[in-house]
Amino acid sequence: MKKIISAVLLLGMLAGMLGVGAAAQEYVIDQTFTLGDVNGDGYVDAVDAFDVVRYLADVDGASLDRNAADMDADGDVTAFDSLQFRLCLAEVKQWSDYEITEGYGQALYNLTIAGNPINTYCIVVPADTNPDTSNAYYSAQVLQRYIWVATGFEPDIVFGEKTTENAIAFHQEDLHESELGLEEYIYNVTNGQMNIYGTRRGCMYATYDILEEYLGFLFYSGDATLIYKNRMVDIPEGLYVQREPLMHFRMVRGGTFGIPNALQYYFPRRNNGHQLSAYEGEKYGTLTGTHGFHAHSFQGYYQMYTGPEDAPTLLERYENGTKVDELHWQPCFTSDEVYEQLFTGLVLYSKYLFEERPKKDQVFRPETSLLSFSICDSTDYFCKCENCSMLYETDGYAGGSVYMANRAAADIQEYYPGMRIYFIEYDHTIPQTIFPDKNLVVMFCGSGCNNHILGTGGCGDNVTLKGENNNYDEKALKAWGEICAQTGAELWYWYYPCTYSYWLVGSPNIVNIYEDYKWLVNECGVTGLYFESDDIYNNFEALKEYLASRVIADPDMTEDEFYDIMREYLRIYYGDGYNELFQYIMMQNEAGDRAGCFRNGSLDRPRQMFDYKYIDDNYEEMRALLVTARDKANTDAQRTKIDTLLACCDFLGLTCVHHRYYKNNTDNEELRQLYMERYDAMYNYIKENDIPVFPSEQYGLPAAISYEEDPMFQIYGAERSGVSRYPAS
Ligand SMILES: [Zn+2]
Ligand SMILES: [Zn+2]
Repeated sequence: MKKIISAVLLLGMLAGMLGVGAAAQEYVIDQTFTLGDVNGDGYVDAVDAFDVVRYLADVDGASLDRNAADMDADGDVTAFDSLQFRLCLAEVKQWSDYEITEGYGQALYNLTIAGNPINTYCIVVPADTNPDTSNAYYSAQVLQRYIWVATGFEPDIVFGEKTTENAIAFHQEDLHESELGLEEYIYNVTNGQMNIYGTRRGCMYATYDILEEYLGFLFYSGDATLIYKNRMVDIPEGLYVQREPLMHFRMVRGGTFGIPNALQYYFPRRNNGHQLSAYEGEKYGTLTGTHGFHAHSFQGYYQMYTGPEDAPTLLERYENGTKVDELHWQPCFTSDEVYEQLFTGLVLYSKYLFEERPKKDQVFRPETSLLSFSICDSTDYFCKCENCSMLYETDGYAGGSVYMANRAAADIQEYYPGMRIYFIEYDHTIPQTIFPDKNLVVMFCGSGCNNHILGTGGCGDNVTLKGENNNYDEKALKAWGEICAQTGAELWYWYYPCTYSYWLVGSPNIVNIYEDYKWLVNECGVTGLYFESDDIYNNFEALKEYLASRVIADPDMTEDEFYDIMREYLRIYYGDGYNELFQYIMMQNEAGDRAGCFRNGSLDRPRQMFDYKYIDDNYEEMRALLVTARDKANTDAQRTKIDTLLACCDFLGLTCVHHRYYKNNTDNEELRQLYMERYDAMYNYIKENDIPVFPSEQYGLPAAISYEEDPMFQIYGAERSGVSRYPAS
């Protein structure tokens, strides 16, 4: 991680970047150095000048921040720099003569390619490029824009021939004619000329690579982008980079992603799911995954099928069809008649999507298009007819899904040759007799336990309150991976690591994101990853979304890289107390690990996610970490975020110490007072700041402050029967 000398500063806001619907983007420059302050003591003075002289004289032990001393920004510290230094100190010249101190250009004083100044370059796209439909052109715009933001120089975009001495040339490769694979890209520098080649979204990904690896950008959030300040950067002669995304489908669903932030965050972080159909199209390099229904779809196809045949449009047919309650309905898996109905619905719905929809925002592309042929959102209503029951005996409910999806995958070829069918499976039974067709994508949803890391056998004999764990899922994931590898089907995974509903407590499984993804990709052959989030950021959900997007894009990353990325994010998001926050997260993780198996979501409550004894023992230490992190925060926004963490820490902490500090405490008045003070502060903070507590009115802050019951009970009610509210003593 880069050294941080001073606080971040805001560069300003820009609205409407590169297209319709783009949200305002705030740029934050990370001051990795201050020109002239070579010893990093916060002052620019004669001591710094003396340090430069000692450095040049090669005095033993003399060291300095080379960026801060490099007055002419040539990458070297020389006698010339030393002279400029003294001219500034003598006020013959100004520091501002050597750097841009306002507006764009503050972040990178001297950008060169193969040693050539950036202002000798233009950006070239082929002469026949259509700006509205070319990802190469869009990528050129992105590069132009961000070079300007970082350096203050805006290179021209030209069609055909370069108009300057040097060029950065974009080449949109056709997937079917190129040697490059899907979304694969190359960028290189030869004889001072930079060339960028990519299929589909490849040029765009190459651009984001260059922006992050060379120009100092970090696309870490939907509403702000960080730029590390650099004095001088050279993109070197001879550079050759070729990359192909390992994951075919990469999707993080969460509030920090989403449509308004697509261009500033979702795309730079390599997400490509069809869930963002507002950005479908060649311009943005096209999307991957399911058109229309992204998961449950049988109810939709049934509705389309049952709609009036004489409806003037397919949309009207759909709207007037029979609506079933998808939480209480599943079709028969083995009836030919039911299959024909649903398949007809699928074909009609696809016609609506690809042909009738006025927006034309859905385009069938064989390599990346899928249609969902999937069960409804219920596991209690599977058909129990004789034929289905017989099928379940060997292949489980999952087998029913495979059986139907296989039929659809074959039959759809008549309508859309090359189309693949996708289905979700809640039931994970390993196939015995019915195997997925090569034209299938199997979306394996979740596992029995969110606490133990997949593939480790960590659940052992533990089970959740519902009696589940990961033991069978781990076996099943590997088996499904092997079967898919044999048949040519793909295996994707739908991950549920978020907290769901009990929003004052964050599910302690951040470490799992790395371990789980590595195992899924390396051991199970998973080629698509979906991350589900609950969109509430009281705790570390935004961090989880960010980390997931990083691992999805780069499953090869090492554990050290993962933790470096995490610390870097914590520093940007919360300020200089990032090490304390890292430790806090690790302690939360430990409290989770001691809790046994739990399942995120409404299934399990905070009581199942944390070992209350551990929190009881460590509450003061954990809280002190947050207090220190708050002291070290650099901005009010960061302090506010830590205040919310602190309220959540007190909510769970006070719950766990309630007996010791208050209820059973007869002899320590100080501790009682402390309990009440912290309770009041937590209660008032949640109330005054409208901190979201639960998705419905079912639970919420009590009307008045009272200390007689613990806060967990007060806000979220009683535990499940047989579950103690208190730490084991
Ligand atoms: Zn049936
Ligand atoms: Zn477990």
